[in-house]
Amino acid sequence: NLGNRFQDIFKKIKGNGKLSEKNIKDALKEVRLSLLEADVNYKVVKEFINKIKEKSVGEDVLKGINPGQQFVKIVNDELIELLGGTNARLTKALRPPTVIMLAGLQGAGKTTFAAKLAKFLKKKNEKPYLIGADVYRPAAMKQLQVLGESIDTPVFTIEGSKDAVEICTKGLAKAKEENATYAIFDTAGRLHIDENLMEELKNIRKIIKPQEILLVVDAMTGQDAVNVAKKFNETLNIDGVVLTKLDGDARGGAALSIKAVVGKPIKFIGVGEKLDDIELFHPDRLVSRILGMGDVVSLVEKAQETINEDEARELEEKIKKQTFDLEDFLKQLNQIKKLGPITKLLQMIPGANQLGDLAPAEKEMKKIEAVIQSMTKEERKNPKLMNAGRKKRVAKGSGTNVQVVNNLLKQFEQMKKMMKMFGGGGLPGMKGGFPG
Ligand code: GDP
Ligand code: MG
Repeated sequence: NLGNRFQDIFKKIKGNGKLSEKNIKDALKEVRLSLLEADVNYKVVKEFINKIKEKSVGEDVLKGINPGQQFVKIVNDELIELLGGTNARLTKALRPPTVIMLAGLQGAGKTTFAAKLAKFLKKKNEKPYLIGADVYRPAAMKQLQVLGESIDTPVFTIEGSKDAVEICTKGLAKAKEENATYAIFDTAGRLHIDENLMEELKNIRKIIKPQEILLVVDAMTGQDAVNVAKKFNETLNIDGVVLTKLDGDARGGAALSIKAVVGKPIKFIGVGEKLDDIELFHPDRLVSRILGMGDVVSLVEKAQETINEDEARELEEKIKKQTFDLEDFLKQLNQIKKLGPITKLLQMIPGANQLGDLAPAEKEMKKIEAVIQSMTKEERKNPKLMNAGRKKRVAKGSGTNVQVVNNLLKQFEQMKKMMKMFGGGGLPGMKGGFPG
């Protein structure tokens, strides 16, 4: 069990104050082994370990927690990132029905998922419509019909037909006629990927023009699931993955590799044979399940919040006393950076896309950071020290030029002036009461 193993690993991290290459060395090795044993793709593991190392080494351990706990939080966040970050959502067509096409190998769980999804949608007051287009597997259509009946959802098939494209064409027309809001197409699978299967799927896609092609893969097959997803994606350009049978002794490796290897998000997981055993995929929940350390994560998050509050108060104090220097400025930049890339942050603000390309702002911030980082502590505290020689050195060290350094220093002076206005109590000219 990955969870227990991770807990042991984290307990062994010693030391305090800072995470160092030395005190996380063994832990990193163990994390690496555990992931490989859980059947995570080796390239993914390698990149993952490097990222963890980069994020950990030199990191100050927060007040009130120990290095192991801090390390857990880093591993936790990176695992979530690896799984694709935010929760994936199902598309909804502007004009119904939303067309969802399922694909996958035989036995992956397509037909079961079709019914699970229909039930899931019904609970959300949607009107799903099922179309059974598996013309190969004996009794496949019957299976879908029985499932459909059990959840009171109409199922379209053409008994005895061997023409999947015809079924899909007529099925879509019927779904529209019935005013369905979702048309779910269950397709045939094979034991292995072959040309015929891919041709058929491409033909179906052409006819039904799905908003979502969901690839259903069996988590129990581990790395095979990842390879299958990769191949399907190359020919079909899928929109997302459904990972089934995560209830079994699937080791989770497939889940952890798919986003990194295939580049498409997992949207749903299947966690049992019953029609209620379906979950929208939440990366944080799976990670919590894998690490089994939800408490530690929230503890560290709390500690981080207090630190942020402390830092904010400290900054405020400095602004008031007018001792805010470039070192503080750098800290503030880091605070902002913790929230994520500027471009992403701004995307969350309605209308921000009208601001045009935001990448330059991002670049600008990186430059500023590089310049400040190339300055000595003394220089950061007292920018007046920056003479021509020092400016040249900093420009070279930061990979910028003297003009950039000059600009930054000028901007910083202006900022300080602004702070004086606000921090010093009142606007200029208002000192000592109202003018006049
Ligand atoms: P298809 O060939 O892709 O249509 O696969 P089916 O939907 O017929 O499923 C194949 C088998 O896997 C059936 O016995 C299902 O009950 C089972 N199955 C599907 N999804 C899950 C799941 O999430 N967990 C478990 N344990 N079994 C599942
Ligand atoms: Mg089937």
